[in-house]
Amino acid sequence: MERRTTRQLTLGDDRTGLVRIGGDAPVSVQTMTSGYTYDIDACVTEINRLAAAGADIVRVAVPKRADTEALPEILNQTRVPIVADVHFHYKRALEAVEAGIHKIRLNPGNIDDREQVNAVIDACAQRNIPIRIGVNEGSIIERKDKQVRMEELGKFFADHRQGHLMAIMIAKLEEYLEIFHARDFHDICISAKSMDARLAIDTYREISKRFDYPLHLGVTHAGPRETGSIRSVVALGTLLAEGIGDTLRISYASDAVYEVEDGLEMLWSLGLRERVGAELIACPTCGRIQVDLFRLVQDVRSRLAADIEVPMKVAVMGCVVNGPGEAEGADIAVFAGDRKGIIYVQGQRVANIPEDEILDRLLAECRKFQDRVRAGEVKLGEKTVEIVPPAPIGELGSGVDKIARGQVEQVSIGKT
Ligand code: SF4
Repeated sequence: MERRTTRQLTLGDDRTGLVRIGGDAPVSVQTMTSGYTYDIDACVTEINRLAAAGADIVRVAVPKRADTEALPEILNQTRVPIVADVHFHYKRALEAVEAGIHKIRLNPGNIDDREQVNAVIDACAQRNIPIRIGVNEGSIIERKDKQVRMEELGKFFADHRQGHLMAIMIAKLEEYLEIFHARDFHDICISAKSMDARLAIDTYREISKRFDYPLHLGVTHAGPRETGSIRSVVALGTLLAEGIGDTLRISYASDAVYEVEDGLEMLWSLGLRERVGAELIACPTCGRIQVDLFRLVQDVRSRLAADIEVPMKVAVMGCVVNGPGEAEGADIAVFAGDRKGIIYVQGQRVANIPEDEILDRLLAECRKFQDRVRAGEVKLGEKTVEIVPPAPIGELGSGVDKIARGQVEQVSIGKT
């Protein structure tokens, strides 16, 4: 996948290690704490939990002086780069910089005094701290001069159903960036988040044409995970598949660990990050099912997450219909039948066991396989089986010739 070329910024220190955003760096996953930052113990616990889930960067809110006062101790007890999320009070940014924060986020929708922004830029420049300019549809449209700006900018993107919002967000970015450029500050990442997936896609496409700063992707206020995941992945996945986006935050009204897990899974699925841990394949079940597969899949998932770091493919299938194919596609596969499970490792059958032994045996095989991969005895994805193509189907013949000629026939079903 060809990715858009962007500048690169670096954040972190000796304790956290460095995380790069943009350029040739892998797309990073961010999230944000939900507790009060001034509650140091709770904040540290939350940050460490999010880092353990795989977050590359964690953001904290600093609305009060007590929050920035807590930062030195929080930074001392955590090992992941921390971003201070600053709204309304530019002094919180100055205090966070003084505390040793790794990155600042400013919202042009609520900090727009040029002298205040200059003060933050100068403080960050002195310490090589990057700044994200985070435009947000929600705070932009609440501006006092909304009507004036709508009339002024309404002519741009006039054929877009929400062109005025795109124009306002892009114009705000342009105006804000001028302040940074006047001070020759380019250690910048930008975002323009909307709660509407289609608007987010179109706005990021537009800003990716206009700026070469790394882009922080996000759909804001995406809602609970059940629906927010669809809205986020459809927007961010589309952009990432087009090569747009250097870091991302999925935002749910639920545990932020899900934001990290889903962000990582999206990047793994797109091949934009190297997978950590097992990839689980499972069938949706149907009327042929002969074991309690849903429960088995959830049990396998949590045990794999705890025990397996090697990116092996594990398939859990409800019956033999797709079993052999999955056994060939996965490193380890189990397919069930008649309250039993048949386990394959790299295409070779290794066990035929009762249903209640499937979980333990499958995990034992996964751990053993992991040890062998680490010892260099076997390679992931390497099989000894051969894939046999299906035989031609009676009079219809084989599709091989047609595939080779690039032909696709139109078929009418049920036509008299
Ligand atoms: S693997 Fe078997 S049980 Fe699962 S969906 Fe396919 S046919 Fe149904």
